[in-house]
Amino acid sequence: MKVVIVGTGFGGLSAAALLAKNGFDVTVLEKNDHPGGRASVYSEKNFYFDMGPSWYLMPDVFENFYSEFGKKPEDFFELKQLDPSYRVYFGGKNPTDISADLEKNFALFDTFEKDGGLKLQKYLESAKEMYDISIKDLLYRDYKSILDFFSGKLLMQGVKLNILESLDKFVSKHFESDEAKKIVEYSIGFLGGSPQNTPSFYHIMSHIDLTLGVWYPEGGMRKVADSVYKLATSYGANFYFNESVTKIEIEDKKAKRVITDKNTYDADLVIVNADYAHSELELIDPKYNTYSDKYWEGRVLAPSAFVAYVGVDKQFDELAHHTLFLDKDWSKGFDTLFDPKKAAWPENPSYYVNVPSRTDTTAAPQGSDTLFILIPLAPGLKDTSELREEFFNKIIDNLEATIDQDIRSHIVVKKIFALTDFKERYNAYKGTALSLSHTMKQTALFRPAHKSKKVDNLYYSGQYTHPGIGVPMTLISSQIVAKEINEKYG
Ligand SMILES: Cc1cc2nc3c(=O)[nH]c(=O)nc-3n(C[C@H](O)[C@H](O)[C@H](O)COP(=O)(O)OP(=O)(O)OC[C@H]3O[C@@H](n4cnc5c(N)ncnc54)[C@H](O)[C@@H]3O)c2cc1C
Repeated sequence: MKVVIVGTGFGGLSAAALLAKNGFDVTVLEKNDHPGGRASVYSEKNFYFDMGPSWYLMPDVFENFYSEFGKKPEDFFELKQLDPSYRVYFGGKNPTDISADLEKNFALFDTFEKDGGLKLQKYLESAKEMYDISIKDLLYRDYKSILDFFSGKLLMQGVKLNILESLDKFVSKHFESDEAKKIVEYSIGFLGGSPQNTPSFYHIMSHIDLTLGVWYPEGGMRKVADSVYKLATSYGANFYFNESVTKIEIEDKKAKRVITDKNTYDADLVIVNADYAHSELELIDPKYNTYSDKYWEGRVLAPSAFVAYVGVDKQFDELAHHTLFLDKDWSKGFDTLFDPKKAAWPENPSYYVNVPSRTDTTAAPQGSDTLFILIPLAPGLKDTSELREEFFNKIIDNLEATIDQDIRSHIVVKKIFALTDFKERYNAYKGTALSLSHTMKQTALFRPAHKSKKVDNLYYSGQYTHPGIGVPMTLISSQIVAKEINEKYG
């Protein structure tokens, strides 16, 4: 049975590997020149930048994925737990390290507020309970109806925790200090949301970063994408790069052919990993759309981003592997991201700097640092080279002032990737970096479906679908799709 997959993001690579292993004849088509999708690589003058994901979180999910092939992550790359997990600057010059050792973090929270450690312990117990239920009952399954969603333990736990309330309200019931609140809330950025628009259910993120830990695959996230690519090819999947899919031809409610700018591929089944909205609005005949233009217009989009890939000929020890610079009044920043009336390039942005060379000597030439600087931006903002340059200078000014170092004169590599680049490189809807936010109405059963409602043999895998954004989630998304396809056609 011929399966054609559109896109080699983690969603496409993992679907290819799982289906090729199960004997399907798999062809994968990708518009860019290498696998990984948003997890692409940029290199210049021996500086290596993971262009997208840099946090290896939820190691249990990676283990589960590789176990489908009788493998472990360590068969492909060396995994190191980071300590500190990450560093935070709360608007001043004094950094706070979040340790890989929970006991140290409890002691740290005691310095933030009375009984802070105890409060964190209780918060994490609740996050663990919810995470365990999610892994068992929520993340690895597909949803066809509301009854599937609110079943058994999840319902009971949901009622107990009032999972419909916002994360922000939930956190305010647990902590008083600004620092404690920010540490348990910042990670909601991984889900492309704000503490105000994301349900409290997602406090599981604190179990993920604080308890399960922050890991680094030696050689970078690109090694992880490579490993899934190699798995797929080892089972016979065929990959064609530099081929843009221009149409999925549908006859009689069945996808029959996938047409690229170079070739035509016959298909018995099609799986789209490219951005869902791009596929529905640009690749298929509108009469076969599951979702209308209006549907997409009405979604809460996860942010786009401004990313600067900067190579410096000096090492800055003030920066840990992951360092967060959080604005004192970060709520204004969330307004510029999620309130359409206030959408703008932010005045005082919170930002994130990743320095893989802190852990990995292959990431930069000796004595140098690879800096990846990320700031979320509202999708669809005006994007010009002048605006980018002005913004870059603003961030570098702030970074230099915060860590008391001259950075500018050490820059030897500089590349900016933002807004319109996401559209052009990945066909991202309105330039979103991360698809749809995880609001209540865009979670689980309410995310775009894994299977087209109008075309019998058309499936979707990747961050737009359940369980959502992030590399581990896209692996799960493919596991769900592959299971469904195996049951139906295998
Ligand atoms: C800057 C950034 C930082 C991130 N940080 C993290 C992190 O630290 N940890 C984490 O877990 N996650 C992180 N994420 C999220 C994570 O990277 C994504 O959720 C995940 O990689 C998405 O995978 P995907 O397979 O759904 O889509 P994609 O990776 O976007 O793959 C889709 C593929 O389809 C291709 N395509 C599109 N249109 C066509 C077409 N017409 N024809 C052929 N091919 C097409 C695209 O080129 C692309 O290769 C980050 C994302 C970004 C952008």
